[in-house]
Amino acid sequence: MSSAFDFEPKPRRASVAVDVGGVIVGGGAPVVVQSMTNTDTADVDQTVAQVAALHKAGSELVRITVDRDESAAAVPKIRERLLRLGMDVPLVGDFHYIGHKLLADHPACAEALAKYRINPGNVGFKDKKDKQFAEIIEMAIRYDKPVRIGVNWGSLDQELLTRLMDENQAKGSPLTAQQVTRETIVQSALLSAELAEELGLPRNRIILSAKVSGVQDLIAVYAMLAARSDHALHLGLTEAGMGTKGIVASSASLGILMQQGIGDTIRISLTPEPGGDRTREVQVGQELLQVMGFRQFIPVVAACPGCGRTTSTVFQELAQKIQEDIRSSMPVWREKYPGVEALKVAVMGCIVNGPGESKHADIGISLPGTGETPAAPVFIDGQKAMTLRGPKIAEEFQLLVADYIDK
Ligand code: SF4
Repeated sequence: MSSAFDFEPKPRRASVAVDVGGVIVGGGAPVVVQSMTNTDTADVDQTVAQVAALHKAGSELVRITVDRDESAAAVPKIRERLLRLGMDVPLVGDFHYIGHKLLADHPACAEALAKYRINPGNVGFKDKKDKQFAEIIEMAIRYDKPVRIGVNWGSLDQELLTRLMDENQAKGSPLTAQQVTRETIVQSALLSAELAEELGLPRNRIILSAKVSGVQDLIAVYAMLAARSDHALHLGLTEAGMGTKGIVASSASLGILMQQGIGDTIRISLTPEPGGDRTREVQVGQELLQVMGFRQFIPVVAACPGCGRTTSTVFQELAQKIQEDIRSSMPVWREKYPGVEALKVAVMGCIVNGPGESKHADIGISLPGTGETPAAPVFIDGQKAMTLRGPKIAEEFQLLVADYIDK
């Protein structure tokens, strides 16, 4: 019979630590949140602005597309501009097809990047594949850069897939087509890592990922990878989708894997709404790690969902306002008040759970529900500190939160 302890997070899987421009991935280091731009990298202004926004939102590594000469030429300029803005954020170059050529032709790009991401499924034309793969690995060795070998089932090595399908058939098809595909994804990553090591890339310069778009496939593939290697793992559900679907699918799959101790860095790939905010993926990644108790980035605002006892929207608006205030103040607070991330604020809608939840927070307010006396008790460090009344309850509570943090 299982006990409650069986559901506790498993210890982190032992993996080889990789230094990505000063950010440690794996080896027991805190799970790193990363993201990727969607600007044309050749457009230096736009890319700098987006990298800066992502980094400011909390992205510890930012990946940029390097798809042609113009974008490779822009990379050192982007890096330089970011450094001038005081942002030493490691940039990861995303290479497909011609990465070997771009890195060879643009040494300043090869130097400016903190990591190269390559895809074994499209690193080159079939007959030249190993040669081109080897060229990228040689560049990584020359510039002392780590490489992420990122398999994606949308661009899976077809030769390997066909071989494993044939082998399975020859054995009487003990595996389903889905299982063979999963095995191909895993083998593609592991064989590429082996080859990179044979070529001289040290183990502590290799990160693996194997992205698929199905939640169950992703969990299965990473569980297999985790069992068969000790390379640091980059987790991400590819083509996760838009809006709530993308958030739910990513959180479900990555949450389950991290609960098993699997994963050293995460990227939440969300399709942004037209004109939507790219930093949302960073926020979701941070919140996922935070709600699971693996890292703390920002004070928690506990708010009840509201119900028929709250006829006004005052408390939802207040909870949202407090959350936004905290988020926008964090860059300053983080510097000024070490440990501020651990703060807990409660904004509750009525007397039923309001006082109890507020007492559990560092600072909390229980707003009056329908039919209750129009008074809002405020609790600080578990004790009732005062009662707010009148039309300015929300503004006064915001000041109290700011005051609490100051003290
Ligand atoms: Fe409803 Fe009150 Fe519970 Fe909030 S605390 S959900 S308002 S009963």
